[in-house]
Amino acid sequence: MSNRSISLTDALYEYLLETSLREPPVLRALREETLRMSQRSMQISPEQGQFMALLVRLIGARRCIEVGTYTGYSALAVALALPADGKLITCDVSAEWTAVGRRIWREAGVESRIELRLKPALETLDELLAAGEAGRFDFAFVDADKTNYANYVERLLKLIRPNGLIAIDNTLSLSGVPVFEEETANARAIRELNEALKGDQRVDLAMLSVGEGLTLLRKRPT
Ligand code: CA
Repeated sequence: MSNRSISLTDALYEYLLETSLREPPVLRALREETLRMSQRSMQISPEQGQFMALLVRLIGARRCIEVGTYTGYSALAVALALPADGKLITCDVSAEWTAVGRRIWREAGVESRIELRLKPALETLDELLAAGEAGRFDFAFVDADKTNYANYVERLLKLIRPNGLIAIDNTLSLSGVPVFEEETANARAIRELNEALKGDQRVDLAMLSVGEGLTLLRKRPT
């Protein structure tokens, strides 16, 4: 008996998927198509998508922001969990990767809930702040260029309402390598963010060993 989190063996992970994954066919199709692409390790795992959908419903989110669309799996998972008039703004710079998502969002019938902004995400976040959108979002997900994570989080802390939620991906590892085991700019950026967040009194925090590490931040009311 141990009071630390277990490590997932392949067999336990299979069991987890078999007994808990409720992946809709459109999400499965998108995931399988992405598995045939380059950079496929950038896609979140299906149980993480299901977990994020649960969070979105749990907090009654209506307006969401995503930084880093890739081929649109997490955007679709979130959009399917939103009410019909819900909205997700998703930011990316790749027209090629996001084209996959756009097609399947349309097939899934949630195209009207997802607004893709194809430009550097910092520009989009600054535009939202300039447009008076501070405090008007419920949920955010960050899974993009790691060296800008701290910049994204600062802006998202303004855009999210009090008690809103920010989920940050890859806070434990990058492509399977623990963030404390390499001296890349990406790994350093994640370590610095993790250290800063631990003492950040603006948020409540939990770091989960889901996928490659998922940090959840709840914005404290001031
Ligand atoms: Ca990721």
